[in-house]
Amino acid sequence: MSECTHDCSTCGESCGERTQPQSLLKEHNPAARVDKVYGVVSGKGGVGKSMVSSQLAVLTRRTGRAVGVLDADVTGPSIPKVFGVHQRAMADERGMLPVPTSSGIQLMSVNLLLDNETDPVLWRGPVIGGVVTQFWTDVIWDVDYLFVDMPPGTGDVALSVFQSLPLDGIVIVASPQDLVSMVVEKAVKMAEMMDVPIVGVVENMSYLLCPDCGREIPLFGQGRTQAAAEAHGLKLLSRMPIDPALAQLADQGRIEDLQGQWLSPVVEEILR
Ligand code: ADP
Repeated sequence: MSECTHDCSTCGESCGERTQPQSLLKEHNPAARVDKVYGVVSGKGGVGKSMVSSQLAVLTRRTGRAVGVLDADVTGPSIPKVFGVHQRAMADERGMLPVPTSSGIQLMSVNLLLDNETDPVLWRGPVIGGVVTQFWTDVIWDVDYLFVDMPPGTGDVALSVFQSLPLDGIVIVASPQDLVSMVVEKAVKMAEMMDVPIVGVVENMSYLLCPDCGREIPLFGQGRTQAAAEAHGLKLLSRMPIDPALAQLADQGRIEDLQGQWLSPVVEEILR
């Protein structure tokens, strides 16, 4: 037997002092109720992860479920903005209270805590990870479905969210280019290593919707993304166009006025 390093995670020996791998999962606030937790992830920033998180929340809310969005994208928090929510989150002696949107979706985001919502969040990874974990352990959620807008990529913040929140599944958001070049592959592997089921993939910015005639203008080889998703055992559940009206809804904080049903297949899969 080699000399003991006291680090069981890097040692293959089986000795009496061997410790079991410990779960890093955290309990939610004792005053909270959260039935299901779904993460929305992407291989990189700017592909529409927040757009998808907010649409999933809106469509799920319309089925009558109680819904929340935990904005874990701490350095690029856009969830309050797309819902047009600007007030500050409050707390009572039991914990932090999420801020409700006009249709009653519960939100928590670092932007609801800052004095000035345009201030940049200049924090290092461990601090950011701690804040996200607190959004889980301290907030008094009362929801059937909690959507977590995950930090982009597979860095330490994303890892700490995967480890501390009991995710029932993840939805992967990717551009057609990301799917074909498998920028999403790292996110897929991360979910597999953490034993979190993948609900499926949303391909965003798949085609351009002509604002004049409504015709679909493909921006990338058609059919290739479906094949790329299948090659990696992923279900391509939705294809969402670049839609100027959609960008306008998000900019104006009116995502709850959404007309598009592109993400209904994802919601159906989640509600199953
Ligand atoms: P991420 O969360 O991945 O960083 P966002 O959801 O914030 O990306 O999207 C980036 C920008 O692109 C936002 O301004 C958003 O409103 C816009 N956007 C995202 N998806 C679409 C789409 N399908 N059509 C039009 N604009 C979109």
